[in-house]
Amino acid sequence: MISVDLKQKIKNQAQRQGFLLTGITSPEPPQHLSTFEQWLNSGYHGSMGYLATDQARTRRADPRKILPECKSILVLGTPYSNPKSAEATERNSPTGRVASYAWGDDYHKILNAKLKELVAFIEAQVGHAVPNRYYTDTGPILERDLAQRAGLGWIGKNTCLINPKEGSYFFLAEILLGIDLDPDVPVTTDHCGTCTRCIEACPTDCILPNRTIDAQRCISYLTIELKEDIPEDIRPLIGDWVFGCDICQSVCPWNRFSDQEVDDAFTPRVDVPHPNLIHELEILPESFSRKFKNSPVKRAKRRGYLRNVIVAMGNSQNPSVIPALEKAKDDEEPMLNEHIAWAIDNIKKTRYEE
Ligand code: SF4
Ligand code: SF4
Repeated sequence: MISVDLKQKIKNQAQRQGFLLTGITSPEPPQHLSTFEQWLNSGYHGSMGYLATDQARTRRADPRKILPECKSILVLGTPYSNPKSAEATERNSPTGRVASYAWGDDYHKILNAKLKELVAFIEAQVGHAVPNRYYTDTGPILERDLAQRAGLGWIGKNTCLINPKEGSYFFLAEILLGIDLDPDVPVTTDHCGTCTRCIEACPTDCILPNRTIDAQRCISYLTIELKEDIPEDIRPLIGDWVFGCDICQSVCPWNRFSDQEVDDAFTPRVDVPHPNLIHELEILPESFSRKFKNSPVKRAKRRGYLRNVIVAMGNSQNPSVIPALEKAKDDEEPMLNEHIAWAIDNIKKTRYEE
């Protein structure tokens, strides 16, 4: 083993770089691999076929398949905004909601730069190049499993990694390292206890009993990953979410006091947390790219984002949005036109039923 001192120096440096949570684990196979495999085999991953390729499965089963020289894994957590920090204010026109992790800049770019800097620090400390591979959310890695084993927290019933002191509003990242570092003590206590708040609050009932989620019904998946029509029976359950969903985290008692300072890059951009739906519907392709440059929202692309905006307008049950929907008809994207017809219908139907 390399000295304890080195481990502490690495953790101190990571904390200076904004990684509030730090832990070390071994490259052993992840504990919940079979649960994940069952989840894939049941098709709960929906259209995210990249999760189920042979290569992804092989690598996920053994971190050494990603980095053969791997001797330890540094797991890190950096906070993003608690959604309660930007509650909707009273507005005249209906607004949507964006999950708080997406309020600022794209975390992939920001965190990858920090991880690269951290690797350079480690190499400077040991005085030679260190085999490494780093990821934030993108690699074939069960990062919450590794985080639990590295002592960062436990996996809650809502499937998020929850730290007993800091809650769950964190981006996770990992660096696979070709140096030996003493592993931290895993978290083995389930602090969820008898609580079931997240399960009860989930609008689409997609939280499964084994701490997995049926992604095909999860608002995060439907508004971000799904590229096609949102199934009609689920549209009314999406409410005003236009990108992601924070509900199962915001009801969690462990997030009650979470108010960590976040990196400037993750502070909310103007109008992103609660966008004006009528304004958003007018976004043209060029302005979409400009508005969401370096933002996670870009992942949905204009067609996906506007599809979500239209569903939120339909769910607003507010007839004042109908003229904007009528005006947006005949978009070059047939998917948007179908959702517009549904939204208008949904508003009129609700009015009629009143
Ligand atoms: Fe349910 Fe929303 Fe959590 Fe998905 S993100 S599990 S829809 S509460
Ligand atoms: Fe666990 Fe309750 Fe939080 Fe759900 S809401 S993750 S059950 S503590």
